[in-house]
Amino acid sequence: MPVMRAVQVPKAGGPLEIVERPIPEPGAGLVRIKVQACGICHSDSVTKEGLFPGIQYPRVPGHEVVGTVDEVGAGVAGWAPGERVGVGWNGGYCGYCNSCRRGNFFACETATYATGVTSDGGYADYMIARPEALARVPAELSAAEAAPLMCAGITTFNCLRNSGARAGEIVAVVGLGGLGHLGVQYAARMGFKTVAIGRGQDKEALAKTLGAWRYIDSQTQDPAAELLKLGGAKVILATVTAADAMAAVAGGIAVNGTMMLIGAVPTLQISPVQMLLRQQSVKGWYSGTSIDSQDTLAFSVLSGVRSMNEVFPLERVNEAYERMTSGKARFRVVLKMEN
Ligand SMILES: [Zn+2]
Ligand SMILES: [Zn+2]
Repeated sequence: MPVMRAVQVPKAGGPLEIVERPIPEPGAGLVRIKVQACGICHSDSVTKEGLFPGIQYPRVPGHEVVGTVDEVGAGVAGWAPGERVGVGWNGGYCGYCNSCRRGNFFACETATYATGVTSDGGYADYMIARPEALARVPAELSAAEAAPLMCAGITTFNCLRNSGARAGEIVAVVGLGGLGHLGVQYAARMGFKTVAIGRGQDKEALAKTLGAWRYIDSQTQDPAAELLKLGGAKVILATVTAADAMAAVAGGIAVNGTMMLIGAVPTLQISPVQMLLRQQSVKGWYSGTSIDSQDTLAFSVLSGVRSMNEVFPLERVNEAYERMTSGKARFRVVLKMEN
């Protein structure tokens, strides 16, 4: 039986082990992908640490997957072997529940299909996917370039394009890490006056290179006050994972403005008085589904947005994962399958 390399988590809280497994066969209605690259996302800790109810172990993490369709199971229409595809966090949906029939595929009620969480993901030479989870990957992007766009890219791009901000309005991006360095690029390319908010003056040059119109150093300046001096932010894209950093900018939302939350903080303190007097909102944003990923990739090609990546071969997965958790990576970490 032909075998492949896979990186599995044996149990919640367990290590990342490189193992040999039989190459999986795509059952009816499924496709097999030969994986070329897979990003390492902070949310992979959900699988590694068992933070999602009902994960079955051993489990292969990875939801920033790019490769080619390798084999198509019975009954799959619209996809053929050889096509370049990507898979993100959304691993599919039923298409017939009430949420799906209202177009809210991300909130499918029948099952949660989360790549690398409820099924094996992309830290492997091959993976099985549901066809509705596939995005087409343009030839202009290498696998390693496209991989981080399947989660960090779609999350920031899709959030910004649905944020209600219009061209020329102020959009602030809080945090200049894996999400934020993409968020600044997308916001600038979409025509917003993009304000990057980071910690330390040394990040200003980077922010400007990425397209920021202004930079606010939250260590030496009050970011909310600085935003108000500029007129207030129509949208604040909160990418950080520290609640106090989010709360510190909330005072800078413009009248009728919105703070969009994509950083997963457990709780956030916010002033209802400020919000009702200035008619503001706070909104969470789910990354998106496969067509949103495809739009993200197409816009990235069109506008020249690229993720800055540190690339590791699959064998060095433990080093790569530690690099991601250290918060020191500039800015996304990607595993490459082929040697
Ligand atoms: Zn992710
Ligand atoms: Zn559904």
